[in-house]
Amino acid sequence: MVEVVGTAPTSAMVITKPVYRHSWKTNIINIKLFQRDSISLFTMKLTKEQQQEIADQQAQKHETKRVTSSELEKILYEALPVLDHGFVRVVDYMGDDSSIVQSARVSYGKGTKKVSTDEGLIKYLMRHWHSTPFEMCEIKYHVKLPIFIARQWIRHRTANVNEYSARYSILDKEFYVPEKKHLSAQSAINRQGRGDLITGEQADEVLQILKDDATRTYSNYEKMLNEKFDGTIIDEKKSGLARELARMNLTLNSYTQWYWKTDLLNLLNFLFLRADSHAQYEIRVYAEAMLDTVKKWVPITHSAFLDYRVGAVHVSAKGKKVIQQMARGEKVTYESSGLSKREWNELMTSFEFKDKLI
Ligand SMILES: Cc1cc2nc3c(=O)[nH]c(=O)nc-3n(C[C@H](O)[C@H](O)[C@H](O)COP(=O)(O)OP(=O)(O)OC[C@H]3O[C@@H](n4cnc5c(N)ncnc54)[C@H](O)[C@@H]3O)c2cc1C
Repeated sequence: MVEVVGTAPTSAMVITKPVYRHSWKTNIINIKLFQRDSISLFTMKLTKEQQQEIADQQAQKHETKRVTSSELEKILYEALPVLDHGFVRVVDYMGDDSSIVQSARVSYGKGTKKVSTDEGLIKYLMRHWHSTPFEMCEIKYHVKLPIFIARQWIRHRTANVNEYSARYSILDKEFYVPEKKHLSAQSAINRQGRGDLITGEQADEVLQILKDDATRTYSNYEKMLNEKFDGTIIDEKKSGLARELARMNLTLNSYTQWYWKTDLLNLLNFLFLRADSHAQYEIRVYAEAMLDTVKKWVPITHSAFLDYRVGAVHVSAKGKKVIQQMARGEKVTYESSGLSKREWNELMTSFEFKDKLI
């Protein structure tokens, strides 16, 4: 018997070893060496066992009186690939568009008069920032992601998280290595952003450093544990260092996994920030995959979200005045606007007045 992975020792439950061993660990059989961008990389696909687990989950049928979302049902449990070794998969959900309408009306039944009125109501709620009806829908994801992205993700506090425990289990031998086309230099104008692409020999060198460092620290991790990632003991005469200590020199591009459950309101907040072009590419790709799941789950809300959040422009009072003056054909300049240079450029960019950028 072992303690449940990722559960605090004080509240530890026990489960049988076979279940524990069946957790989402990568299997040596699936390691393939491949060449990308002139360096050798490991790729690990889902093991046969994991594929079977998903197939079994997808084959199960339960009768329910609750609403389900037919499009989301089709991809339930499926691992949607993200980055080189990551994935995101929907493992559970509650509610659909009609649940939002139902709670907004505090109705007894489905709350649906006509799809068109439901759509109108959802649009109204989104437009006027009525938040609580969207909290009535919940979704649970299983995500595999690099640790440095997990650090950004975990800042979204309004979710329930249970992470794979590197105190209990050995982390997979998998590291995120960017594709060459994402290997950008530090931006000269945005301290948090990326600039032009790094190319040629310098790009090869960077990729090689990333790969070498990750492999070196992982093999030292195995040495300290006295155990290989596939479970074989290195030296029978030695005892390995505790997993909770051995992990500390692993590189941040190592992959971790978690279950992440949140309600639709907070999911949309997460997606608004992380599917945005200002978010780092490596988290944005997860957000984009999740946005697709939202489309399948609550299509009316998804469409309202794109319209009133993602595609909308938030304008300050001074900014509004500038746009009003421009619409009236009056001459308006940055100097007379009262906006800072940054605000002015953001406003002009939002309305695609590229010739007015300063
Ligand atoms: C492009 C980008 C760059 C970033 N750069 C940095 C950075 O340089 N440094 C850094 O530290 N962070 C950075 N962040 C993280 C950012 O500041 C937020 O912490 C993160 O996006 C989570 O947002 P949130 O608080 O809205 O989400 P959640 O934690 O999910 O909260 C959702 C909402 O719930 C409410 N809420 C939650 N908890 C509380 C609370 N304790 N008190 C009051 N209200 C609460 C708030 O209204 C909040 O907006 C960055 C984020 C983005 C998208």
